[in-house]
Amino acid sequence: MSAAWRVGVDPRRCIGTGICAGTAPEHFQLVGGLSTPLADVVEPADPVIDAADSCPVEAITVRDAADDRLIAPEG
Ligand code: SF4
Repeated sequence: MSAAWRVGVDPRRCIGTGICAGTAPEHFQLVGGLSTPLADVVEPADPVIDAADSCPVEAITVRDAADDRLIAPEG
């Protein structure tokens, strides 16, 4: 298990559905209509994965902070 994950939201992809903020309110909030991670590096937590997998436009990426391996969304 990774020790830390790096969370990113691509502002060019996000269409502001708010699904991620609803799924993982401790990790995402809408700012100016776009999702913004509350922290760029987080402890591994299932809601972060759920949010990345739930985003309809795959704007969220979750990577291993140590080696940049893509953890979510699942391809
Ligand atoms: S679920 Fe995706 S499209 Fe919707 S607000 Fe979050 S990042 Fe943006």
